[in-house]
Amino acid sequence: MSRAMSEAEFVEFATVQIAVIDRALARHRPAGGHCCSCGQTLPCPPAETLRLRRRHYAGCIETARATAYGARPAENGR
Ligand SMILES: [Zn+2]
Repeated sequence: MSRAMSEAEFVEFATVQIAVIDRALARHRPAGGHCCSCGQTLPCPPAETLRLRRRHYAGCIETARATAYGARPAENGR
C-alpha cells in the first residue's frame, strides 16, 4: 500500500529529479549554426521540455520551503 510523500521526502525527490535533469541537459548544447549537440535544430524541443520540468521541480521546492519556513517572523525580518 502506498502513502503520500512527506514534504521533506518530496523536496528530496525533486532535488534528485533536478540533478537528473541537469545531467540530461548537459547533452544539449549549442553545436554551431542552428544545431543542438543532440542533433535537433535550436531551440531544441527535448531541451525545452527538460527546462520546463526543471522549473516545475524548482518551483515545487521553493513553494515547499516557503510553506515550511516562510511564515516564521524571524526569517522574514518582521
Ligand atoms: Zn538538444
